[in-house]
Amino acid sequence: MNVPFFRPSIAEAEIAEVVNCLRSGWLTSGPTTKRFETAFAQAVGGKHAVAVNSCTAALHLAVEALGLTRGQAVLVPTMTFAATAEIVRYQGAVPILVDCDRLTFNMDLRDAQRKIERLESGQSSAARGEPLKPVGMIPVHVGGLMMDMIAVHAFAKRHNLWVIEDAAHAFPAAWRASATQPWQRCGEGTAAVSCFSFYANKTITTGEGGMAVTDDSSLADRMRTMSLHGLSHDAWGRYSGGGSWDYRIVDAGYKYNLTDIASAIGIHQLERAEAMRVEREAIAKAYGEELGDVRQIELPVTPADRIHAWHLFPIRLRLEKLSIDRGEFITQLKAAGVGCSVHWRPLHLHPYYAERFGWTSEEFPTASPLWERLVSLPLFPGMHASERAQVVRVVRDLCVRHRA
Ligand SMILES: *Cc1c(COP(=O)(O)O)cnc(C)c1O
Repeated sequence: MNVPFFRPSIAEAEIAEVVNCLRSGWLTSGPTTKRFETAFAQAVGGKHAVAVNSCTAALHLAVEALGLTRGQAVLVPTMTFAATAEIVRYQGAVPILVDCDRLTFNMDLRDAQRKIERLESGQSSAARGEPLKPVGMIPVHVGGLMMDMIAVHAFAKRHNLWVIEDAAHAFPAAWRASATQPWQRCGEGTAAVSCFSFYANKTITTGEGGMAVTDDSSLADRMRTMSLHGLSHDAWGRYSGGGSWDYRIVDAGYKYNLTDIASAIGIHQLERAEAMRVEREAIAKAYGEELGDVRQIELPVTPADRIHAWHLFPIRLRLEKLSIDRGEFITQLKAAGVGCSVHWRPLHLHPYYAERFGWTSEEFPTASPLWERLVSLPLFPGMHASERAQVVRVVRDLCVRHRA
């Protein structure tokens, strides 16, 4: 039997709603997208939600709305996907890469402090002689485990930075400072803009899609305008009842709007989001029980003051206790029918960031060796017990056969 790394969970309600949409005569952004935005904002506890066709688009619109421009720098974790840094480049600004925490893989704020000091003293390799002003930071909640947002905002305040959160993994997720504090959902005022992903393998999906959530109505207005060619009002507004045919182009915008076909899927995924999270959490807990005694691997941490979205289940190989490396481990997992992935090769080890900005491995003492130990195991709602059992059996077997 082959266990896929991920299998999307699509129910009959999603299918029926897509069919409704196809029959309705309105396919692009319109009434269904409005419904999805309203329901999503409510689900995360944010004031405004702007639906777009990817989380990358949401992140781009967020930095654009905050006025990011050439000559500026943004703190971005090196342990992230391409999108978090590339959108800083779209604006001509420079991502200052930051090392990660060795257990959560989230941005290490002590390293962020060091990277700012080096930038301000003119020693940062990323600046390449060009004066750069740090203006913002984009933490990523890796795997759906939120950062300590009090610490993030204290850091941001000290350095006068805005905070956009890359919440591509973090729906639904929440955090609290301690057991006596109330839970705060990701998107509930946790950043100036919170950007979510509905990519095919994220915690809820619309095939491709994303959402920018903010409490700031002027940021929301700017993002909405720029998401559709910089037009003064959208197509639904123009063609429906009271709308006017006469729009104005107020800036050179983008084509980032989400279709009603996609939102039709999203509305029903949203209704099942917490149930799917609970399912993933149960699988993660079972993995913890069934793999907890394997000395060749380390399992993800589960702090008590987090509601974990469990988008990923990344294990860390203890290479000193194994006779094979990560590459061979993955080859053998795949040979035994277990799909897996790696999150991620850190950005500083990609040619573009290494060559363009001169980052070296030594500047990231945690992420550089960590990434060579990372393997993400399958974790998705609808995963059968027999599939989980196979993953556990194969991992245990590999660790026994190749113990050092
Ligand atoms: C998936 C992902 C994105 C991009 O999401 P898209 O919706 O595919 O644009 C951004 N950041 C992180 C951390 C991701 O995993």
